Amino acid sequence: MSYKHTIDNDICKGCGLCIAVCPKKVLEIADKVSTKGYYPAYQAHPEDCIYCAICCTMCPDVAITITESADESAAKQEAEV
Ligand code: SF4
Ligand code: SF4
Repeated sequence: MSYKHTIDNDICKGCGLCIAVCPKKVLEIADKVSTKGYYPAYQAHPEDCIYCAICCTMCPDVAITITESADESAAKQEAEV
């Protein structure tokens, strides 16, 4: 099964906590400011992500979500939101 890792730039405040806890060093701070005026985290190395969800748990603003990438799962996810 495949997964999709998403960071919401409108929520992320660029605190860096997720970057610090990621065991695979996937995440980095972007060099472009968001519409909210922060430098958000992003997946600099998505190929290394193991979808452990530690970053999701750590984020104080719940900016990170991991969803199943299959179409039916995406529909299910939307229904749950
Ligand atoms: S899910 Fe795990 S491996 Fe992937 S970015 Fe988050 S902490 Fe890193
Ligand atoms: S922990 Fe959350 S708010 Fe902080 S940089 Fe990561 S995604 Fe952004």
